[in-house]
Amino acid sequence: MSLEAPFPEFDELLEMIGEAGARISEINASEGAAGNLSVFMGWQVDPRRKFPVVEEITLPVAVPHLAGGSLLMSGSGRRLREIYRDPLANLGFVAIHPGGETATLYTSPRRIFARLSSEYNSHIAIHNDQVALTGTNFHAVVHAQPRYLTYLSHIPQYRDETYFNHQLLRWEPELIVNLPEGIGLIPFRVPGSPELMQGTVEGLRKHRIVVWCKHGVVARSEISIKRASDRVEYAEAAAHYEYLDLANRKMADGLSPEEIREICRVWSIEQNIF
Ligand SMILES: [Zn+2]
Repeated sequence: MSLEAPFPEFDELLEMIGEAGARISEINASEGAAGNLSVFMGWQVDPRRKFPVVEEITLPVAVPHLAGGSLLMSGSGRRLREIYRDPLANLGFVAIHPGGETATLYTSPRRIFARLSSEYNSHIAIHNDQVALTGTNFHAVVHAQPRYLTYLSHIPQYRDETYFNHQLLRWEPELIVNLPEGIGLIPFRVPGSPELMQGTVEGLRKHRIVVWCKHGVVARSEISIKRASDRVEYAEAAAHYEYLDLANRKMADGLSPEEIREICRVWSIEQNIF
């Protein structure tokens, strides 16, 4: 899937990134400066009126499929909840050069960060992989740290992907509709490491959202950044229900596999979890 012209205005994208950041924060998925987000635009954007400060950078991983495109990305140490108040101070614009090994970073004179997000290798590697696979001209990635999902990933039994999805996707009819591929699980890896980046790229080929065990989640969308943040919210709502049920001695039964299959039949949802 790709966006069709007319493409979103630059200001609209900045506003949507701000709203997604605020929402991630409202659902307690971004304590302190945790979490980061980015969007890839495959069309021409001139950032210089808003981001006139120019710096040449070498990318942490080669992203040949993003060459000629650009990214908006949160700065290291910035708070997702504050982006909407001053997007220019909190975001950088990265124009990827031919070959995908270097880029120009455009920032605002009001910039209040030294570097791009610490997880920026994962962000650009995910965008690169998805563009290579689907040819999309737009792609959004959100990393957040929602409490219930992350807590469940600390319980060994829940680090089995089949068990995790059977337990979580039974709590609301919307879950199988919005996450028909289920939630992927990526074993714990050191934040920012090449191993975490590689595991995440592979996990997001199959899923729209993955859990970084004992750390947080990453969600993607080829429609909008808010769609990616919705995925975090749906998955976290499921984990919250699951936690409530654990705390309440598992008194609820949740939707049965038959009920979920019936939802899928009526709404024409393809899935192979239930
Ligand atoms: Zn994190």
